[in-house]
Amino acid sequence: MSDYRIDTKCIHAGYHPGNGEPRVLPIVQSTTFRYETSEAMGRLFDLDDNGFFYTRLGNPTLDAVEQKIAALEGGVGAMLTSSGQAASMMAIINICHAGDHVVSSSAIYGGTFNLFYKTLKEMGIGCTFVNPDSTEEELNAAFQDNTRCVFAETLANPSLVVTDLEFFARVAHAHGVPLIVDNTFPTPINCRPFEFGADIVTHSTTKYMDGHAVQVGGCIVDSGNFDWNNGKFPMLTEPDESYHGIVYTERFGKAAYITKARTHLMRDLGAQASPMNAFLLNLGLETLAIRMERHCSNAMQVAKFLESNDKISWINYPSLPGNACYELAQKYMPNGTCGVISFGVKGGREAAMRFMDSLKLASVVTHVADLRTCVLHPASTTHRQMNDEQLKEAGITPDLIRMSVGLENPADIIGDIEQALANV
Ligand SMILES: *Cc1c(COP(=O)(O)O)cnc(C)c1O
Repeated sequence: MSDYRIDTKCIHAGYHPGNGEPRVLPIVQSTTFRYETSEAMGRLFDLDDNGFFYTRLGNPTLDAVEQKIAALEGGVGAMLTSSGQAASMMAIINICHAGDHVVSSSAIYGGTFNLFYKTLKEMGIGCTFVNPDSTEEELNAAFQDNTRCVFAETLANPSLVVTDLEFFARVAHAHGVPLIVDNTFPTPINCRPFEFGADIVTHSTTKYMDGHAVQVGGCIVDSGNFDWNNGKFPMLTEPDESYHGIVYTERFGKAAYITKARTHLMRDLGAQASPMNAFLLNLGLETLAIRMERHCSNAMQVAKFLESNDKISWINYPSLPGNACYELAQKYMPNGTCGVISFGVKGGREAAMRFMDSLKLASVVTHVADLRTCVLHPASTTHRQMNDEQLKEAGITPDLIRMSVGLENPADIIGDIEQALANV
């Protein structure tokens, strides 16, 4: 399977039916799994044997989808979660405890910002936000003795800032900590962060991976590349008394981080995906490669139309030549970024509202990455908790419209925009 190209893996990785078994990944809608003896089940609880026993900790449908996403990203293992938020949370607290500290790019999703700024802080985990285009000196200055990871988004939602992954990875590694990257927007079709030094990848599978807006989900993927044996990660390198003193790095090698995420955090926090949602996610993954290609080509046509329209004050699409992140986008996602574009309509916040209300094909929803074109005004919705200064740091202006270009015929999408602009 590892020899196949990524679009083939989208369809086949993770599930290989044997003789007479279902061709399509089955939904194993069972909380529990039967064993012949208590002794056999005890070995599972001790992590001595592999096997399913309770769906919070593992399930055949989830397992197949986890293997598929790990294969797409090029990681050693993955864990599905109930949402992207749960994935971000668990990715951090798997290696950060009270008293520890995170360095995060300021260009991140509003929900992740709140998680770091409020909830993690209340849990005693500090966070320093850095500008995504910080110099090396500025980035270094954000680190503390208790810093345990660096966090960024490959392609930020909604600012569309492209992170210089190799630079962030190099600085994180120089400080002995991993780079955790949220790769939701480009998906592994357009960017595979492990190839540029990132150590852990997170996803909101709610977005392009699903692509049809039918389930909320998340995923954590482990590259297996980070060496945890530098004294900063005792939770991975010293005995875990809740599993009879096993040491994750000794017992699970390259899969230490992702195994601990499951056996410790999922066991205790229980934000697992449901088998039905994993099945729906898998349907989305099967067509991910072909959908991303069309999302990108449609978005490029819309971006070019907007760029040449005199009612538009500015446009941000990193695949457009002249964009501030064009070079980084060409380096890290040369086949395209994603279908999301942001722009401002002349006349500011009010004109933006009138434009959005006049759209007929595109709908106003709190969502992106759907096959139906949709629009959102972040300053008054997803990012409304932020003050103007925080908005600016996250790269969001009050007039910013986020358009997620869908898979409809591009002429119809552009026609809709044209008629709505006529009302502005
Ligand atoms: C939507 C989103 C999340 C949160 O995911 P949910 O599935 O909504 O919990 C995290 N990161 C990014 C980049 C997102 O777009």
